[in-house]
Amino acid sequence: MPTENPSIFAVNRFCEFSNRDTEREFLAQEKERSLGTARALILIMGIIFMAFVFSDFFYYGGGRAAAFSLAIRSLVLGITLAFFFLSKRIGPYNITLIVIFLTQLIIFSLYLLNLQLLEASQVFLQFMTVALFLISAYLIPNHLKNSFILSLCILGAYLAYCAAFQDPALSPPLHERGIYLGVTLIACAIFTYSHEKSRRERFEAEKLLEINSITDKLTGVANRGRFEHVLGLWIKNKRHEPFCLLFFDIDNFKSVNDRYGHSLGDEVLIQITQTVTANIRDEDTFARWGGEEFVILFSNIGIAKATELAERLRAAVEAVAHEKAGVVTISIGVVQYRQGETLLDLVHRGDTKMYEAKQAGKNRVVSEE
Ligand code: GH3
Ligand code: MG
Ligand code: MG
Repeated sequence: MPTENPSIFAVNRFCEFSNRDTEREFLAQEKERSLGTARALILIMGIIFMAFVFSDFFYYGGGRAAAFSLAIRSLVLGITLAFFFLSKRIGPYNITLIVIFLTQLIIFSLYLLNLQLLEASQVFLQFMTVALFLISAYLIPNHLKNSFILSLCILGAYLAYCAAFQDPALSPPLHERGIYLGVTLIACAIFTYSHEKSRRERFEAEKLLEINSITDKLTGVANRGRFEHVLGLWIKNKRHEPFCLLFFDIDNFKSVNDRYGHSLGDEVLIQITQTVTANIRDEDTFARWGGEEFVILFSNIGIAKATELAERLRAAVEAVAHEKAGVVTISIGVVQYRQGETLLDLVHRGDTKMYEAKQAGKNRVVSEE
């Protein structure tokens, strides 16, 4: 990930990263915490919803109404329990978020059905309950888009229910309920937007810090610390395939600096790293070792293949002339890791081979093959 490309962190109008890989990484990181919150809140919703069976019983009396209430509220509790126990098994987090959306929508539909079956008339209590449903659409973690659609569905369905089945004389009047709930919806959406935005900005800051700590500032390739970490992992893993190290140093680079200045020297460094990056595989680790010396870890190949790749790299660099400095070449040393040797030993052998390439006349590959 290049440090100077902020577009991978651009967010769209629903406050999601436009770059799909960035969004996926963000969600994967959020999943652990968010899913825990969603499970707890949905379960609490089910339990509170169930508790109202008692108030229904006292208010509407026993018999049919109480039976309806008990049946519907038990169903809701069952759904929330099912979500609580099964939601961890859903694979992709995007799907989990849709299941959260549907669970809330089903619970709200059952709530409306309960109102209808009980011919409920406690308008103020309903109004407050619907406001809580709206708030929970934003409180329970989800994509802002999902929360927004869910809250619109809740508000629309409730107002349609009131218009179709309730006495318009009931207080507060329908249009006032619509206005208050609409304001609640918008306030929640704005609050959630700014909350989501700051979470994503924090993610971006952390990510950039992480990228910068492993990247060489000038060339954008990995830095030495990163390389030593990756190499250390390869050496530690005893069951690895063969792998090779390639050291290269730019030939007569001091004279490029002396003749054209340091900033043009920087340009040449960047151009060479770009040529090399374009000619290695994604699984190889390419790093700046220091100054105008670079190192590549060729994974899963032996010395013969690595030597062949090194020769191809050398030719590729020689084939690209800088517009002012002309052709600048590199000298390469190639070694294969020997089981049991330390990182220092391996690096020393690679460095020695590179030095031999310099001694032998530069612009060449010396391999221990
Ligand atoms: P050789 O072929 O033997 O490697 O000769 P050389 O001139 O390349 O080797 P030397 O080690 O004498 O010089 C390396 C030069 O690379 C000296 C240093 O100023 C330059 N250099 C190191 N890092 C940078 C950098 O980041 N930018 C620029 N422009 N020059 C750098
Ligand atoms: Mg040099
Ligand atoms: Mg050097």
